[in-house]
Amino acid sequence: MKQIYTYGSYLREKFGVKVYKVGINISGFTCPNIDGTVAKGGCTFCENDSFSASTQTVQALKGFHLNLDSDENPFLDKQLLQLKQQFDAISSRQKREYGAEKFLVYFQSFTNTYAPFQTLKALYEKALSFDNVVGLSIGTRSDSITEETLEYLKELNKEKEIWLEFGIQSVYDATLKKINRGHDSANVKEWILKSKEAGLNVCGHLIFGLPGETQKMMLETAKEAYEWGIDSVKYHPLYVVKRTALANEYARGEFQPISEELYLNTLLKALEMKPENVSVQRVTAGIDDDSLLAPQWCRDKNQQIRHINHALKKIGLKY
Ligand code: SF4
Repeated sequence: MKQIYTYGSYLREKFGVKVYKVGINISGFTCPNIDGTVAKGGCTFCENDSFSASTQTVQALKGFHLNLDSDENPFLDKQLLQLKQQFDAISSRQKREYGAEKFLVYFQSFTNTYAPFQTLKALYEKALSFDNVVGLSIGTRSDSITEETLEYLKELNKEKEIWLEFGIQSVYDATLKKINRGHDSANVKEWILKSKEAGLNVCGHLIFGLPGETQKMMLETAKEAYEWGIDSVKYHPLYVVKRTALANEYARGEFQPISEELYLNTLLKALEMKPENVSVQRVTAGIDDDSLLAPQWCRDKNQQIRHINHALKKIGLKY
């Protein structure tokens, strides 16, 4: 049985020890697709409220949003403290429970290059100063990163491991429009190519089961993303949670979630097409609480992984 090349294996090969990602949510960040810069309301599947940070400093930062037109940030100290508190809490648990020795700080919620440059710089540099941190992984949108930030990250990447994570979702503009993505596929391609040219590491997020998409379309997205040179990939099924535009479409019968059977079949094909060097960070997603409306197979993560491994076994692979 051949083991799929995972991100964990990549990090272990590169750093020689167990490296874990420490997911961080900094208050004050938002997304141009939510705040009205690009669009309002966000992607139809995005439950904006779900991005809440849980540290002692949160109360002080409640209701605060970064002002993109100014380099002044009166709450920067609090954000830096929040970063430290989250990093300490999560990395200690990862050390204790999984034997993690080194860490990548993962700026995960909202759009983590969408802030005044000096704020980004302060947060990234603070994260890189923590003990045993080997690098950063920065989740963002392709329409929200500037040449200045890219140039700066290029410099950081000479000393540390810098990743950018872009939501690709689909290469079909009609689909991106349906989900109110706020940018087209050409924009994602442009910034992935630029990031690669700058020598940065790129992870692409793909969603299977987007409205109106056939399996052929989902696989075309995977194929193009591989061709753009992504280094790592996260595959997700589209699921519906309460308080989203997609929930309304689902209630009106306008959206039919992907079946587990079709998801598995698409995932297997996408994995078979994947170049060997592209590491896999995620093969599915879901949520096990009452916010999940559909499909129900996205509730139990362990069961999903069991089904994925069962399906992979038939083609001689394991995750
Ligand atoms: S880009 Fe991300 S944070 Fe922004 S609306 Fe879409 S899913 Fe939500």
